[in-house]
Amino acid sequence: MSESPLLMNPGPVTLTESVRQAMQRPDICHHEQVFFDLLLGIKAKLLDVYPVASRDYEAIVMTGSGTCAVEAMVNSLAPSDSKTLVICNGVYGERMLEMLRVANRPAVALTFEWGEAIDLQRVETCLIDDDGISHVLVVHNETTTGRLNSLDGVAALCQNLKRHLMIDAVSSFGGEWIDFDYWSPLAVAASANKCLHAVPGIAFVLVQRQQFVQQQSYATSLYLDLFCYQKFQQQGGAPFTSGVHALYALDAALDEFYKRSGWQARNQHYRQLASRLREALPAMGMALYLPEDAFCSMITSFHLPEGFNYQRLHDLLLDEGFVIYAGQAALNGVLFRLANMGSMEMADIERLIDVFQEKVCRGS
Ligand SMILES: *Cc1c(COP(=O)(O)O)cnc(C)c1O
Repeated sequence: MSESPLLMNPGPVTLTESVRQAMQRPDICHHEQVFFDLLLGIKAKLLDVYPVASRDYEAIVMTGSGTCAVEAMVNSLAPSDSKTLVICNGVYGERMLEMLRVANRPAVALTFEWGEAIDLQRVETCLIDDDGISHVLVVHNETTTGRLNSLDGVAALCQNLKRHLMIDAVSSFGGEWIDFDYWSPLAVAASANKCLHAVPGIAFVLVQRQQFVQQQSYATSLYLDLFCYQKFQQQGGAPFTSGVHALYALDAALDEFYKRSGWQARNQHYRQLASRLREALPAMGMALYLPEDAFCSMITSFHLPEGFNYQRLHDLLLDEGFVIYAGQAALNGVLFRLANMGSMEMADIERLIDVFQEKVCRGS
């Protein structure tokens, strides 16, 4: 087991043994009661990650990667007869804008530099100037750079100006605070294989229950229609073949999540690991790409070390047993990223720091 490299990419993550073992549970059909029980159990456990969500939300579970959940949210809930504002400060905001474009939905983009903080003044101006905007899409943790977008202000503006907020929380769900009460988002999309530490293949959207009663779906896709899943899932059913083994893994990962005291404990553990990296690497010449207090708990972006392009750094670290992650698009030549989710302890971080010391920074 120790032969496979430690995954420091932002999902999929290195699994714990109990999650890996869970995938060995019996093969089942998604039209049988055992499946319904499994799915209903997972739906309830997902709402319990932030317990206040149980009051007003339903978790819609889908087979697909994180993008599947985000696109299902966008495709089913972004109206065709009013505009959706997308706040972009990285790859994933821009991806939601693209989803609106391919679905032919009226969209307005509010774009910041990748990594730049969201300027609330500009959000407010957008919303006040254009009363055709009914919905707002935002990414919680922009994995592109690791900036944790502060959503208190965005959510307050949405509430005061009566707009519906929808959040891509794929890389924050289970690892950061999501305020279902105060932010009261219409929907939050996430996936199993990031802060929840399960395998890729299952994604989910928490949607305000009322939405299914009062509204119709805007979906222009059969597979991505949340309303269709919602009907089937009342009794635990699924409209399409489900990733049964990935659901087993998620079920076990959620049990482990609760056994280890939930998102706060996970956040604290991540913060400890990340803090050590954020102190050690800059001291060796790899500066943080963002101000330290802008970062989320689960990923950090660093400037590439002197004399290394990304590929060279990647290959060297892979030889030492670590998978790291590149910057996207123009950031490829500028930074590299280290995620600290999954089965990872401080000893792993210390070993990585030693490798940097011995193999990367020798002579500097
Ligand atoms: C990982 C991620 C996604 C989804 O990516 P997939 O590759 O489809 O799993 C979406 N948004 C954010 C912020 C992410 O970090």
